[in-house]
Amino acid sequence: MSCRGRFAPSPSGPLHFGSLVAAVGSWLCARHTGGQWLLRMEDLDPPREVPGAAANILATLDAFGMRADAPVLYQSQRRAAYDAAFAVLRVDDHVFPCWCSRSDLAATHGLHRDGRCVTPPTTDRPPAWRLRAPDIDVAFEDAVQGAYRQNLREDVGDFVIRRAKGIYAYQLACVVDDAFQGITEVVRGNDLLDATPRQIWLQRLLGLPTLRYRHLPLALDAQGSKLSKSDGACPVDAARPLPALRRALGFLGVPASDAEQPAELLAHALAHFDPARLPRGAGRHVT
Ligand code: GLU
Repeated sequence: MSCRGRFAPSPSGPLHFGSLVAAVGSWLCARHTGGQWLLRMEDLDPPREVPGAAANILATLDAFGMRADAPVLYQSQRRAAYDAAFAVLRVDDHVFPCWCSRSDLAATHGLHRDGRCVTPPTTDRPPAWRLRAPDIDVAFEDAVQGAYRQNLREDVGDFVIRRAKGIYAYQLACVVDDAFQGITEVVRGNDLLDATPRQIWLQRLLGLPTLRYRHLPLALDAQGSKLSKSDGACPVDAARPLPALRRALGFLGVPASDAEQPAELLAHALAHFDPARLPRGAGRHVT
């Protein structure tokens, strides 16, 4: 069965090695089934966006030979869809307004017991909106990491889906857009494994299909820390894609050829790719 995958970067800086691994992993998994691969720019939060980063990421993916099968979806243009999903959750009483500050919540260990806010409502400032976290276990089988289970109330608590400034949270936007883009399989870094039960719960509340998930080990530096955008050594070089592409394929356990062009290297990798042999575990050193 062919699956439809996606890569969904946030434009908070140039493409770094960890994101390249997610991009290549999602591309290989989708193409391996003969399926499509789509792009989504997660530009939900304008103040956190680095000017030019979105265009830079897209140009870098292009230089690496990964082209989407549909126009890029920009979350900054999807507000009406998030409003509609929020309205459904509100009508069904799954959300409540919350004026709590971080320190209010610290006093209650971050939990809103019984779906109630610990700070009295006020008209001085707009509230954030939280989704009620029920006392249920959400379990799923991650195709890389295996069985995963979380009790939403105990492990997460009532979580913000719309911030006080009116910006929708990643969890809601991701779920709405994965469904809108017809995604069937999400391949991304293991740092989002623990967000997945929240997303599955939102899918259920909104009547959307639950997807298949593969969470790839995070790329770790020699000290065992996650390679991050703040690490100046990490941006990948669009002018010299082959070395980083070879390292990303090596990280994913896929044989790399001595091809001279990224598209050829990817085609060779695809011909030898077996998703069952993807590396497991929370993190893996980059060699
Ligand atoms: N935009 C998120 C990130 O760059 C990824 C979201 C996802 O793949 O669901 O970390």
